[in-house]
Amino acid sequence: GLTGRLQSVFSKLRGKGKVTEEDVNEALREVRLALLEADVNFKVVRDFINKVRERAIGQEVLKSFTPGMVVIDIVNKELTELMGGTHSKLARSTRPPTVIMMAGLQGAGKTTTSGKLARLLQKQNHKPLLVAADIYRPAAIKQLQILGEQIKVPVFSLGETNPVEIAAKAVEHAKENHLDYVIIDTAGRLHIDEELMDELKQIRDAVKPDEILLVVDAMTGQDAVNVAQSFNEQLELTGVVLTKLDGDTRGGAAISVKAVTGCPIKFAAMGEKIDALEPFHPERMASRILGMGDMLSLIEKAQASIDAEKAAELERKMRRAEFTLEDFQEQLEQIKKLGPLDQLLDMLPGIGKAKGLKDLKVDEKQMARTEAIIKSMTPEERRRPEIINASRRKRIAKGSGTTLQDVNRLLKQFEDMRKMMKQFSNMMSGSRGKALKK
Ligand code: GDP
Ligand code: MG
Repeated sequence: GLTGRLQSVFSKLRGKGKVTEEDVNEALREVRLALLEADVNFKVVRDFINKVRERAIGQEVLKSFTPGMVVIDIVNKELTELMGGTHSKLARSTRPPTVIMMAGLQGAGKTTTSGKLARLLQKQNHKPLLVAADIYRPAAIKQLQILGEQIKVPVFSLGETNPVEIAAKAVEHAKENHLDYVIIDTAGRLHIDEELMDELKQIRDAVKPDEILLVVDAMTGQDAVNVAQSFNEQLELTGVVLTKLDGDTRGGAAISVKAVTGCPIKFAAMGEKIDALEPFHPERMASRILGMGDMLSLIEKAQASIDAEKAAELERKMRRAEFTLEDFQEQLEQIKKLGPLDQLLDMLPGIGKAKGLKDLKVDEKQMARTEAIIKSMTPEERRRPEIINASRRKRIAKGSGTTLQDVNRLLKQFEDMRKMMKQFSNMMSGSRGKALKK
């Protein structure tokens, strides 16, 4: 399955210290196959792979110390984006009731989902009304009534009369009884046909729903996407509910429905029970599809522990007065990756206004100059900057193609930084010891 396949791709990446561009391409080839196998639309897959590759290479994955994790992170983020990025909320009318029309093929889960949605709204202190507008199977009305009884939500039914009339009268009934949500359970067919669409359009025109939710069975893979596409063309859907995500479903539908139709997935149903409906969260779904909920938190932890390691190393060096210009340069590189230094410093109370550091603007030119200056020093000078006298300064300026002022400024900044770090490390050493034990 998709999950297993992707996991093996990622574990391959994880086992390596460094990943070459070839590795990234190989991994993406596997991801591509995995997605195609999961029945994701091939155009969606192609775009997806291109995006991930672009982003992976743009972010210098190859230089990273954990390239596999970076790729995982990118795949996860792009997948999330593909499914809509953020959670898309259910509409709410400013003039209640909010009318929700359910549509979909027979067996997709419309009636069950109507009941679940009523339950969800009820839990949020709303007063929903369920409407039995599937008149073709007497069992359908009964099914909805049983669900209504179970959760104590009223069910509006007029037996086997015209569904358009039922829907319109139900909305009136809700207004009169101060019910703020109307959920209309409509009929489905085994296949899309004109008769079905006409009836749905008539209901739509009669009640002007705030939401037209298409209920699709996630187990049907590519078919789910085709169904979504034609319902959307006919009815202009406002959202999709994916059902049966609890079974041995291929995640493909979730991935391509949004990409192909542009309709957000609003809910996910994961079981037959009345509580088995959840607001759809793309980022959670992406983690689930990738089977890497744990892996993502692992990435965070790894990142945190590596930072802690580096910090501890730095602290040790500073204590022994070993902090050198090479370390300084590395620090600047790290800072450069993090973003504008002024903003970073502003976040640290008391540090933001520290003298000397204010001038330490991190821009590309400055970084290049700093690097050139440090490179023009001898290893001895880098380790013991105090030996850099006037003539050495001149030599360094010449060698690095900078001015004497540039060299002086850098050495001053380094000295300031060293002093400040020492203070900072004294301040932090008490609490750090405890924090690292955990
Ligand atoms: P409708 O014809 O679209 O109204 O579909 P129903 O609501 O009657 O559901 C058809 C079948 O699918 C029923 O047996 C439901 O119990 C089942 N079903 C609906 N949603 C889910 C789900 O999320 N998971 C599982 N496992 N079964 C579901
Ligand atoms: Mg039904």
